[in-house]
Amino acid sequence: MLSSKEYEEIFPALKRKINGHKLIYLDNAATTLRPKEVMDAVNEYSLNHHSNVHRSAHTLAAEATQYYEDARSKVANFINAEAEEVIFTKGATESLNLIAYSVAVSNILQSDDEILISTIEHHANFVPWQQIAKIFNLKIKYYPAKSGIFDLSDFLKHITNKTRLVSITALSNVTGQLIPVNTLIKQIRNIRQDVIIVVDGAQAVPHLPIDVKKMDCDFIAFSGHKMLGPTGIGVLYGKRKYLNMMTPFLFGGEMIDKVSTDGTTFNVLPYKFEAGTPNVDGAVGLAKAIEILESIGMDNIQEHDKQLTSYALKKLKELDFLEIFGPQDETQQSIISFNMKGVHPHDVAHMLNDLTGIAIRSGHHCAQPLMKEFGTTATCRVSFYLYNEEEDVDKLCEGLKKVWEWLK
Ligand code: PLP
Repeated sequence: MLSSKEYEEIFPALKRKINGHKLIYLDNAATTLRPKEVMDAVNEYSLNHHSNVHRSAHTLAAEATQYYEDARSKVANFINAEAEEVIFTKGATESLNLIAYSVAVSNILQSDDEILISTIEHHANFVPWQQIAKIFNLKIKYYPAKSGIFDLSDFLKHITNKTRLVSITALSNVTGQLIPVNTLIKQIRNIRQDVIIVVDGAQAVPHLPIDVKKMDCDFIAFSGHKMLGPTGIGVLYGKRKYLNMMTPFLFGGEMIDKVSTDGTTFNVLPYKFEAGTPNVDGAVGLAKAIEILESIGMDNIQEHDKQLTSYALKKLKELDFLEIFGPQDETQQSIISFNMKGVHPHDVAHMLNDLTGIAIRSGHHCAQPLMKEFGTTATCRVSFYLYNEEEDVDKLCEGLKKVWEWLK
C-alpha cells in the first residue's frame, strides 16, 4: 500500500480542509473518491477521441469503439469473465433491475417458482424481486437474518424444491459482513442444480478479488463509482446461457439486429442488452480505475481493509457510549455500523463533520428490513478504502468522544 502523502497526490480531495480540518473520508460504501488519473483518462477520451460507438466509418467513431470495447475487456479480465458476458449499465441498481425484469418477462421464472432473498439486502437487491414477484405472480421468500447477521446454514434451510432463484449480497453495505458466497453457491448447487444465483457485488467487487468462474454465480452486479470510477457506469455479468435466453430490458439503438413491420430481431451479446448510446466516458473511467486497483493488487486491498476494520472494531468497542451492529469479528470487512446511545445518527454525522472534518454516513443505508432486525430506523456507518489508515480511526474515536461530550 502507498503512504498517505502518496494517496494525497492521487486523490486531490484528500488535501481538502473541511471546517478547518483535514478531510477524513469514511463514506466509501456510498461512493469512493476520484483519482486524478481516472478523470484525466476520461478527459483525454472526451476531448480527443469522442464520437458515437459501433456506428460510422470515420476515425473518431473507430477510436471511440476501441476505447469502449477495451474497457469491456478490462472489466471482463478483472472478474475472469468473457467480454461478451459483460454488459455495461448505469450501476448495480440498473443491473439488478435488468436481471429481475428480464428473467421474469422471458418466462425463465414461472408462477410456482420461488425467489429467495434475505433481510440484509440493499433495497436495490430487494425491491426489484418483490416487484417482479407481484407483477408476474411469482412467489418470494425472505430469509430473516436474526439480529442482522447472515447465517449460512440457516439460509440453506430456506432452499426448497421450488426455489428457482437466489439473490444475495456478497458484502453487507451496513454491517460489512462478508458472505462466503463461493461456499454458499456450492452448497446451493448441491441441493438444487438449477437454481439461478445472482450476486450483488456492489460492495464486494471494490474490496476483494472476484473470479466469477470460481464463484460459479450466474450473475453479478456492481457499480463503477464504488471502486474509484465515475458515477453512471456499472456492470452486469451474466452466464451466456442465461443472457441468451433473456429478453432485453430496454429497446432501441445498438441492441437491434433487424427491424420491420413484421417484427424485430436483436443483436448478439453483449449488445443485446445495451440499448441507446452508451456511457463511453464512464466505461473509460472505470477501465482506468481497474488499472489502478490492479496495480495495487486486490489481495493487498482486501488485507488492508480487513486489518483496518479489525483495528477500528477494537477501538470503537472501547467507547462504551456506542452500540455496534453486526458480527463484530473477522467476518466483517470495510464497513462498521453503530449508534451513539440516545443520540440520533444524523446529529452524530453532522457534528463529526463540523467539529472534525470527518465524513461518515447516517441513515437507513437503503436497507430498511435490516434496520428492522436491529430494532432501529437508522445507524451511523463508517466505511474504509485503500487510502484510509489507522490514524483516521484514531481521529474518528477522538471525534466521537467530542460529540458525546456535547450531546450526552
Ligand atoms: N447493492 C449494494 C450492496 C449497495 O451498497 C448499493 C449502493 O450503495 C447498491 C446495490 C446500489 O448501487 P448503485 O446506487 O451504485 O446502483
